[in-house]
Amino acid sequence: MIDPAERAKIYSVLDGRSEDFVTLLSDYIRVPTISAHGTKFQEGAEATRKVLETAGATARLVPEKGGPPVVIGEIEDDSTSPWVILYNHYDVQPVDPLDEWTSDPFDPVVRDGKLYGRGASDTKGNTVAQALAVQAIREVVGRLPVNVRFFIDGEEESGSPHLLPFAEAHPELFRGLGATIEAAAHTRDGKPSISLGSKGILSVDLEVRTSNVDQHSSLATVIPNAAWRLIAALRSLRSENGKILIAGFLDGVPPPDPEMLRYLRKNTSDPLSYKDEFGAREIFGGKTRYARLKRAAYGTTCTIDGIWSGYMGPGHKTVNPAVAHAKLDFRLLPGQRPDAIFDRLVAHLRTKGFSDVKVDKDSVFEPASCAISERLPQAILAATREVYGTEPNVFPWSYGSSTTWYFTRMGTPAPHGPGVGYQGSRAHAPNEQIRLQDAGRSMKATAGMLMVL
Ligand SMILES: [Zn+2]
Repeated sequence: MIDPAERAKIYSVLDGRSEDFVTLLSDYIRVPTISAHGTKFQEGAEATRKVLETAGATARLVPEKGGPPVVIGEIEDDSTSPWVILYNHYDVQPVDPLDEWTSDPFDPVVRDGKLYGRGASDTKGNTVAQALAVQAIREVVGRLPVNVRFFIDGEEESGSPHLLPFAEAHPELFRGLGATIEAAAHTRDGKPSISLGSKGILSVDLEVRTSNVDQHSSLATVIPNAAWRLIAALRSLRSENGKILIAGFLDGVPPPDPEMLRYLRKNTSDPLSYKDEFGAREIFGGKTRYARLKRAAYGTTCTIDGIWSGYMGPGHKTVNPAVAHAKLDFRLLPGQRPDAIFDRLVAHLRTKGFSDVKVDKDSVFEPASCAISERLPQAILAATREVYGTEPNVFPWSYGSSTTWYFTRMGTPAPHGPGVGYQGSRAHAPNEQIRLQDAGRSMKATAGMLMVL
């Protein structure tokens, strides 16, 4: 057990590590590990190893068949202690549109207490914060209260397509008393969050072809238009108010847990803030914050991520396009399985008369969550209260998707604790940023969590 004086010492050591955090993270961000381009992964993995070694971990690159190496860093101070896994990823999203960045995405800068750079919040910043937290505990007390395994994936932003065979080959890496998955964001006013899992996702590509080549648009009297055909198929999937019309779509989803709904009532975040954040013209869900939050947390989606057909250049071209494309994603709740939803989607299109619409599965993440009574979420709650002096916002799961299920399927609860990001972090978007104050508290919350266990 770590005594109160040592705890205070660890927190004060971390208060002095802001500069180290910026230096380590900046070097890490400079390696442009863009997932979609598949570049710089060996360098990215080596840079990750360096960060983990800072924490005192014994780090190794574990090959993943067909994908970049997974970087594992372990600290086993006592072979009888349980393992806690800290999962993050070293790949990042593409940076386009580049002209919307105010500074180079891969040459981080600090302005007004914020660090800007691709991967700062998602999730290189979390890896660095956690490494420094672990380092501080060992520096002050000489050892960790639990064994820690850093698990740093190289292709999460592409849906970790090779992780399942990797998990089958290395089941032991996924077993522990708990795993933190990336991390949850702070609100704008600095309130921390914890979520108990992640929604799932199914991404698909749709294509419909009505002829071999485009034609003069005057021939649309007699030749079908691919774009109209695709729109008709898309309209069959979702009602105007957002209800997904695929038969059996919500099969297997249990009603919301009453205890989670009680936490949601106390949760201070409000989807209405997206009006300021994104300039959204309208926010769905209802008149109260609770109703909107419930919709955000327990809602599922069928989203058109992109749609294109015909002429999209300057001026006008009168053309009847031969082909139309759309990219869709579905956000799913625990109880739904992405592969089953894919089968239902294909069956839906067939029964609605759209068997000419070609559907390709792009990527999936299974939804998953854990009980708040588990040791790791309880440790996160306790640490958050200690470091922030306040209750965190508790979510049943994050709105986004990650590798949570790979851990929960092995019996390892996998929540998200407070990370370095905040609501304005613009993950996946231009000017990704974190506030150094959030990062400082996130380091302390990680240390606090490990010390409670
Ligand atoms: Zn991401």
